[in-house]
Formats: sequence, C-alpha cells, structure tokens
Amino acid sequence: MGWLLLSVLTLSLSIAMASDSTAMLDLAKAINPVANLGWTGSDPCNWKNVDCTNGRVTAIRLPGQNLKGTLPSSINSLSMLSILTLQGNSLSGPLPSFSGMSSLQTLYLDGNQFSSIPGDFFRGLTSLQNVSLDDNPFEQWLLPSDLASADGLVLFSASNASIGGSIPEYFGGLQSLESIRLSYNNLTGGLPASFDKSSLKNLWLNNQRGPMLSGSIMVLGNMTFLTQVWLQTNGFSGSIPDLSGCKSLFDLQLRDNALTGLVPSSLMELQSLMNVSLRNNKLQGPYPQFKDGIKVDNGKLNDFCRYDPGVPCDDRVMVLLEIAAGFGYPAAVADAWSDNDPCSNWLYVTCDPQKKNITVLNFANAKLSGTISPSIGKLSSLRSLILSNNNLTGKIPDVLASMPNLQSVDVENNDLFGEVPNFRKEVTLKTDGNPLLGTTPAPGRGGSGSGSSGGSNSTTPSGMPTTSSITGSGSPTGVIVGVAVGLAVLMLIGVGVIYCVRKKRHQKFRRVQNPPSLLNGGSVPSDLQSIKVELSSLNGNGNASEQHSRASSGPHMGEAAGGSMVISIQVLRLVTNNFSEENILGKGGFGVVYKGELHDGTKIAVKRMEAGVMGKGMNEFQAEIGVLTKVRHRHLVALLGYCVEGNERLLVYEYMPQGTLGQHLFDYAQNGYPPLSWKQRLTIALDVARGVEYLHSLAQKSFIHRDLKPSNVLLGDDMRAKVSDFGLVKLAPDGKYSVETRLAGTFGYLAPEYAVTGRVTTKVDVFAFGVILMELITGRRALDESQPEDSMHLVTWFRRVIANKEKIGKVIDPVIDLDEETYKSICTVAELAGHCTAREPHQRPDMGHAVNVLSPLVQQWKPTSTEDEDCFGIDLDMPLAQVLKRWQANEGTSTMTLMEETSNASIPPKPYAENFLSKDGR
Ligand code: AMP
Repeated sequence: MGWLLLSVLTLSLSIAMASDSTAMLDLAKAINPVANLGWTGSDPCNWKNVDCTNGRVTAIRLPGQNLKGTLPSSINSLSMLSILTLQGNSLSGPLPSFSGMSSLQTLYLDGNQFSSIPGDFFRGLTSLQNVSLDDNPFEQWLLPSDLASADGLVLFSASNASIGGSIPEYFGGLQSLESIRLSYNNLTGGLPASFDKSSLKNLWLNNQRGPMLSGSIMVLGNMTFLTQVWLQTNGFSGSIPDLSGCKSLFDLQLRDNALTGLVPSSLMELQSLMNVSLRNNKLQGPYPQFKDGIKVDNGKLNDFCRYDPGVPCDDRVMVLLEIAAGFGYPAAVADAWSDNDPCSNWLYVTCDPQKKNITVLNFANAKLSGTISPSIGKLSSLRSLILSNNNLTGKIPDVLASMPNLQSVDVENNDLFGEVPNFRKEVTLKTDGNPLLGTTPAPGRGGSGSGSSGGSNSTTPSGMPTTSSITGSGSPTGVIVGVAVGLAVLMLIGVGVIYCVRKKRHQKFRRVQNPPSLLNGGSVPSDLQSIKVELSSLNGNGNASEQHSRASSGPHMGEAAGGSMVISIQVLRLVTNNFSEENILGKGGFGVVYKGELHDGTKIAVKRMEAGVMGKGMNEFQAEIGVLTKVRHRHLVALLGYCVEGNERLLVYEYMPQGTLGQHLFDYAQNGYPPLSWKQRLTIALDVARGVEYLHSLAQKSFIHRDLKPSNVLLGDDMRAKVSDFGLVKLAPDGKYSVETRLAGTFGYLAPEYAVTGRVTTKVDVFAFGVILMELITGRRALDESQPEDSMHLVTWFRRVIANKEKIGKVIDPVIDLDEETYKSICTVAELAGHCTAREPHQRPDMGHAVNVLSPLVQQWKPTSTEDEDCFGIDLDMPLAQVLKRWQANEGTSTMTLMEETSNASIPPKPYAENFLSKDGR
C-alpha cells in the first residue's frame, strides 16, 4: 500500500515537473532574445534567474532584460510559481490568463507594452501580495471581483493602466492592503464607503482622465492609517473632513478638485503633515494658515474670503457660511460667494440700501439639500427667508420665530418635518408641499433645527465654532464687545503685517535713495541710474532675490514694470569692463556671457549676442524677453533688462555666482568644487521642478522650456537652483493638442516623440527633467561617448538597470555618501526619473507630481520654513505689480489704512503676466 502511494506521489510530481518544463520552454520560445539569459537545456531549474524548490519552478526574475515577445498561455500551469518579475521590458500583446496560479505572491509586470488583460486574469490568485501593472497600454479594463479573494494583498499598483469603472468596494475589506496606486486611469464614481474599515496607508488616485472620480471625501476622516493621499485633479466635492485621527498623514494632495467649505482647523493643526495642496478648489472662509515648515500649496483659485493666512472673514460671511454648511456647502453657493462682502451683489443675498445689513435670503429653486441652519437666527436684520422648491429636510429651527425683523418665511415644496415654530402673527408663512411638516420626525431622521434658540454655542459641520448674532437694528452689547475685540485683533494683525513687510524689506531689499555714481565722483547716465536702482535689490551675496525689482522706491518700480528694462550699451560696456576676456562667465548658443560689476559690488550677468547668430538668434532673443517679462519665480533666473542698439542685442540677468549645475555635477574636480551631496542634488531637483511647474501651469499661460539640461540650471551661493535660458520657450497650446515646431533642444534630453515628430507638449520638459534626475543620481551625462555602447545613452541604460530594483546601487554616483536613508531617497527619485522618461508622453506625470514626490524627501533632511515665502499673506511669488501696489499702499500708512488695504486684497491677485500685459498695452 505504502509502495503504491509513493509511486502515485512520484508520478504526480514527475507530471508537474514535466508540465513546468513545457511551460518554461514555451516561455523561452516566446520571449526574445533568450540567448543572453542562458536558457538552454531541458531543465529550467538550471536556467539563470529561475528558482526552483523540489524541482518545481518557484520564481522567475527578469526585470529590465530588454525582452520582447508575448507571454504564452501555458504560463498558468506553473502552479508553484510565487514570484514573477518582468517589469521594465518591451513585452507586448495580450496578457494570458493567470487564473489558478494559487502560489503567486509577487507579480510585477509594469513598464511593458501589454495590450490587454483578460477578465479571468486574477481568478484563483489567492496568495497575491504585491502587484504592479503600471504603465502598460492596456485596452480599457475593469477591476475584477476575483481580486477580492486575494486577502493577503498588500500593494496594488496599476497607475496609467487604462482602468475604467469604479473603485471596488471590496478593496476596503482587504485587511492587509496598504497601498492602492491607481493614478492616471479612467476611474469614475466615488471613494468606496468600505475604505473606513481599511488599513490603507498610501492612496494614489490622482489625475483620472475622462469623467474622473467624484463625490465626497468624508471617508478619509475614518482612515486613520493614512500616510499619503493623492486625490488631485479629480472632481471630488463637498467639504474636507476632520482628519485629526490620521496621525501619520504627511502628504495630502487635494488640489484641482471641486471641494467646498472651510479648511478645518484640525487639518492646520495636524502634527504629522508636511506637504499639502488645496489649490484650485472652491474652498471658502478664511485663508488657511498652516504651521511653519510645511509645504503648502493652498494658493489662489479658491473662494476664500481673502488671501491673508489666518485673517478672519467678515462676521456676515461666517454666518452665511454656517448657513451654507447646513446645505452641505453646495458648489453653486461657493461659486457665488467668493469675497469678503456679502452685500457686494452676492447671489441669494439682498442687503439694505446702505449695503450693510442682510435683509433677504432667497434660495428658491437652488437645488439645495441638507437642513436649515439655526445660524440664520444670527441675521437679526433679515426680513424675508425664501427656501421654496428645494430638497431640504429636518426641522424649521425654532430660533427663526424669535427673529425681530422677519416678515416672511417661504419653505414650500421641501421635505421638512417636525413642529412648525410659533412665529409672530405678522409673519407671512408658506409651508405647503411638505407632507411631513407638523409630524414628529421619523426615527433615524436627523434635523439640525431641533429647537436651538440662537445657536451661539453650536458648531458647523466642519467643526468651526459659530459666530454670535450680528447686524440689525437690535444690536446687543455682545456685538459691541465682539466688534471691539475684533478690531483689536485686526489692529494687532495689521501691526504684524507692517512688521513683517518691513522686516522682509530690510532683509531682502536695499533701497537706494540717491544712487551713487559708478565712477567715483562722475555723473551717472540716466540709464545707469535706472539699472542701478533696479539692481540695488540684489542681495549681499550677489543672488538676486525673486523680488529684485520690487526693492526700490515707488517710481523706479513703476519703471521696472515697464520702460526701464531697456539699458544702454554704454552702461553695459562700463559694467563689464568693455566686455573684457576676464569677465567672461561662459559661452552658450546665443553668444558670450559676461560678468558685470557695479560700483557697489553688485554683480550682473550680461549675455551678448554674437553677430553670427543674429538671424536665428533674434527669435530667441525676443522669445527670452517675451517669456521673462511675463513669468517671475524664485526658481527661474530673472531678467533685469535688455539692450537693442544698432547691431547689439544684449540681455541682462541676475548673476548666479556658482555657475551651472553641469559644472558642479560633471566637472567639479576641474573647477575645484567639492562633489554635490545627495541633499544638495535633491534640493536642486526640487528647485528645478518648481520652476518648471510654474512655467507649465502656474504662470498665466503655459510655457514649455524645450531645453532643460544641467547647463541651463544655474546655482546661487546657497546652491539653490534657478532655471535659465528661455530662448527656446514655446507657448503651450490650450487644450491637449501639441504644437508642431522646428526641432530644438539638446540631444540626450529630447523626448522620443519630439525627436520623431517635432510635436511638443509640456511632457517634453518632463522627459528632460527625468534625464536631469538620472544625471543627479549617476553623476553621468545624458550622452557619454566615453562609455561602452550599451551604456552610452543614459536613459536607456538607467531604465534597464533600475528595472531590477535590487540593482539600483549600480547606477548611484560613487561620490555620494550612502546611508540607508539616502539609499531609500535615491530609490524614490530613480523611480520618478523612470516615470518622467516613459516612452509615451501620456505615461509621464506632470511637473506637479515631481514636486510632490521630491518635496517630502527634501523636507526629510531640511524642514524649510515657510516664513520666508509667505508673511501674513504678502506672497513673495505674487505678481510684481501687485506686490508693488500693496507695498506702496503700505508705505507710510497708518494701521487703519493698512487694514483697509488688506481687506481690498480679498480680490485674488491677477497673474503676473496679466499685469504686465496690461501695463505694456500688449
Ligand atoms: P547660456 O548662453 O545661457 O547657455 O550661458 C552660457 C554660460 O554662461 C552658462 O553655461 C554659464 O556658465 C554662464 N551664465 C549664463 N547666465 C549666467 C548667470 N546669470 N550667472 C552666471 N553665469 C551665467
């Protein structure tokens, strides 16, 4: 009997081994070329990169092997296979079904060319733990219910993988699941309610294409394990939940959605938070003030009442927002209420002729749902309340009955219930069309208007304390006290703003009352004076601050924004020692760049066009002036002026004392520099990413640089970087179409589609940025002819090597001091570099993504203070003319006038270019 059993077991093992061999031979035949893998002989257990246990194939590891071909359908007979890593190859065709591979734990297929994934692919894959399918040009597919049985799943990564449909509810029930990465797909619908039971840490759902993800994000409030949440560029709506339970959340990207309501104070106080973006939503209320040291992009394009962090809104605004909270902060209301004065023609609101007190609220037919907020009771001047023809539920708040001036209430055709409050008999009351009104609330039905008598201690759904009664004829003493306290607070803030602006001015601006002569005792040509005044804002170490021309006194700054950018050739001769050899800083395609030095030691860089390039260079000359006068950012080299005289064409820039990134990265020894540390490289990468992100999406128009490379990244003494050389910049087209253009740029950095078709989108810059990241990691040039042929082209070599994550060490510049933390950080940047250099432009992320990936890494070493960047709302990235206006307004004003000015600042500043264009009349 024992003998028989043994024979049966031996036989079935032999059959299984034979079946493994057949499947492996099929695989060897199908993936091409196999020669370099040494897959010869009939026993696959002797093949390279294949592991076996007891004669059965358990692991196949072939990442980044330049494999082509398709996967054979017999692959699913490898029933003991637990690891299959084929990422970073060029495998194509439809994926076969993997159904039944019940031992499979790790499956990496990302970065290939697979064209489709069958419906039963995941059937029976009950041991799955880590899956990555990102960056494959699949036909659209849906996440199948079979995945629900993979209850040990930890990572599911399938960004940019053409997934449609909605996020399945079962994801929330997979208790081990820590990471869902599904960015850049075609997902629709909302966040599954089941997420509240999950242990998810990492949730990437950003940039869905097509109709996008939508609905509420309230469930995040219960997901207490979250560390990183990327929901940007979707259609999420409703308010931001209380995230105070998410004690490990460090990165929250919510920008470019349709979120409404107030930014909860609990978010601003969250200790773990390091990086947050709220830009381009419909957020309301006071402009949020986050703690020092965290990277914030809450910026413009919201509906904040004003744009000064932490400064409260007008009391009437706050009451109206409490009322809007009852309705769930509808988007239409957010759109209609976006400044600090409800009496300035706000939709749904009417005021008395003095435009001070609210007299009518008319929300008829406004498609409202939710409840009637008792905060309406605080509008003691209200005469008429119209809420008819909506879907409101809950009770009519009792407090309405005690409003002294109320004359009419119309709540017809809603879904209200409960007792109708006892209104004064003069009040006209319309309640028809509410079948349940006058009855007791059904069990389980809430109602915010449950007899609260004024609501002074109530809170809004976002946890904000409500304000006390305001306005109207019968102002109680509390109002006077409140106003007095408010004024005192405002005055304190006003004093703070003045202090802050002055402090900044002293730190960064050196004002020149009487510009001293450049030549001792000689008279100063007027052009020279103007350049002198403008340049006087350069800071001590020769680095121009990003506000360089905001520095001088009023009239000069006016000139800076307009005519005085023109500088005479005599001035430039003078400051460059007649363009002497010793002053040469470098040479570019446009001509020679000279160092200029003013009398007081301030340095400038003067780029002089060579006669030979006059023809083609003229376009670049004009492009550069065109771009640099429209964009202004701390990570873009600032143009200080230009000269057009006879045959002379010159551009004058802020001087960057440490030269180019290339000099520090590749030629540091020749130049006598120490090698760049990883921290420095990382900071430079982030600076460049920020500069380019601004060019792409934050400047009023979207610009494409087209020639990003280390020699166009200049460094200051603090080794902070700025992008330069805007001669090839193109205006990006609106919408998604690319521009066809004369091929420009530098070989080695050119995106494949640009090299082939000459068509350019912002994604060509993302590609070039990815190449720069690779150069920062490796210390090798994009194109290095001294290398053997297979590693000459950095992108190809780098992508091939890092496809095997274990081999990342091979690409790291040996001069970088490696510890565990640095290694981890490099791995993340290597992954980003790979993503940025994806073959298809649509597979590459946008620059905002690069900023998001890099900024937490930089913060890890060096928490930066936001104090420098933003001081009581004086946004130093703000358009020059806007800053000028504010600054002039603040100059010599009293606290009161400053306060007036600050409240005017509730009008969102116009983009820089707009100011410039209107000034120039162009
Ligand atoms: P470009 O014509 O912009 O490629 O510049 C040629 C070279 O001049 C660069 O590689 C730098 O070494 C130097 N250079 C250009 N602009 C500046 C600047 N603003 N400050 C210092 N050096 C510069």
